[in-house]
Amino acid sequence: MSMYPEDKDLVVYCPECWWSSKWNGDDYAMDYDLSRPFLEQFRELIKKTPQVGLATSHTTLVNSDYVNDAAYSKDCYLIFWADYCDNVMYSSLLANDKDSADCHILEESELCYGNLNCQKCYRVFFSEDCQNCENVYFSKNCIGCSNVIGCINLRNQKYMIENTQYTREDYEQKLRELDFSSRKNIENYKKCACAFWATQPHKYMHGYQNKNVTGDYVRESKNSFDMYQVVAAEDCKHCIHISLPATKDAHDYSGWGNNAELMWDSAICGENVRNLRFCYNCFPNCSDMEYCVHTSSSHDMFGCTNIKQQQYCILNKPYSKEEFERLRAQIVEDMNAHPYVDAQGRAYLYGEFMPPDLSLFGYNESRAQDYFPITEDIAQMRGYHWYHGKVERPAPTMKREAIPDRIQEASNDILKEILECSSCGRSYKIISNELELLRRFELPVPNKCPDCRHKERWARMTPPLLWKRMCAKCGKDIQTSYAPERPEIVYCEQCFQAEVA
Ligand SMILES: [Zn+2]
Ligand SMILES: [Zn+2]
Repeated sequence: MSMYPEDKDLVVYCPECWWSSKWNGDDYAMDYDLSRPFLEQFRELIKKTPQVGLATSHTTLVNSDYVNDAAYSKDCYLIFWADYCDNVMYSSLLANDKDSADCHILEESELCYGNLNCQKCYRVFFSEDCQNCENVYFSKNCIGCSNVIGCINLRNQKYMIENTQYTREDYEQKLRELDFSSRKNIENYKKCACAFWATQPHKYMHGYQNKNVTGDYVRESKNSFDMYQVVAAEDCKHCIHISLPATKDAHDYSGWGNNAELMWDSAICGENVRNLRFCYNCFPNCSDMEYCVHTSSSHDMFGCTNIKQQQYCILNKPYSKEEFERLRAQIVEDMNAHPYVDAQGRAYLYGEFMPPDLSLFGYNESRAQDYFPITEDIAQMRGYHWYHGKVERPAPTMKREAIPDRIQEASNDILKEILECSSCGRSYKIISNELELLRRFELPVPNKCPDCRHKERWARMTPPLLWKRMCAKCGKDIQTSYAPERPEIVYCEQCFQAEVA
């Protein structure tokens, strides 16, 4: 399994081989050539060193071959950006979850399905922004609630449907009538719940236990600005996807935390990392590195890639501390005097992140395409790669019309079938752990492929952008990721607290 398709001109090792002691990145050491731009030489080094097929801590994974950006997990399938999970499927941005599927941003939760941004939840389905909830369906921003359906903005309530109180008996009767074991019923009820939510106020940002923070989907953070999908950050700015505590003093950093500090212009670096600049995919235990890619357990490195347990290296070549410092200073000077210039004529001086043409991925393969979708023409104009390969999938053996509506109608035979996605038409599978979970939840098998389900969850989130807008109650200016033209009723913190919590 690899995140690099076979038709990419790269040397790819499986995680076992990449992390083994049978080779190391200094086998590929290059001398710095004064006559050529440094980043051009670094690009050559990236191309010739062996890439690790998956960005995982593979020794901490058990029976989880089909996951990426994941660690410390067991019996998981198609999870991404995830740690400490057990029997979790088709989900992303996870920490400490069990027996769940089809969620994005889920922490310390169990038996969850189809949720977005939930923490400490148990048996919570098709819900968003809930904490400490149990036996909840289609609810939003509820805290400490149990046995509620289609509710919004509730605190410590039970037996409520669309914010109306029921007796226990009437609630249970109504739940039986709604019968979420049928996909048709789910689709119908989803529309009712969304229509009800739209009549109620929404807080200007998703998050709690923050002090002096701007952004969205931020929790337990302070003095941090323009943050998105972040937990436990302090004194940070322009950060995204921080899924594990803690992060301090980070700027232009995309996750994942887990004791990261002094991070500057770096992506996918975490677990005891310190003072990394212009780095990508460096973990764990790294410090004082610049322009490094896939560098692990190392310190004082400059322009190194696919190397581990080293110090004072430049272009993967080890130096003495004094030689390293002298040559690093020389290269920084050269980078400013003779910078790397890309095909668009843009110069990359020292102090900028690596140019996009050093990336091993196409724009259309990356999360960027989820957040900011662009066409191939525009991507090429901006100097991004574009991946043209096509993933071949076998033809479906079960047409979309034949996918059973009710979980009771899905026999074990469905595990042998190749299903046709009712949205994009591509083939996908149901796996046995998934079927077992759906039977426990009494929820139907999905009739859409994992990609389409991911896109639907994504569409429910507000984007990583901030707009100025007025509080719908008091008229005060607020900064929010709900765009001004969106229909939600958006309240400032004070008005929301006064009305809801
Ligand atoms: Zn699909
Ligand atoms: Zn207000």
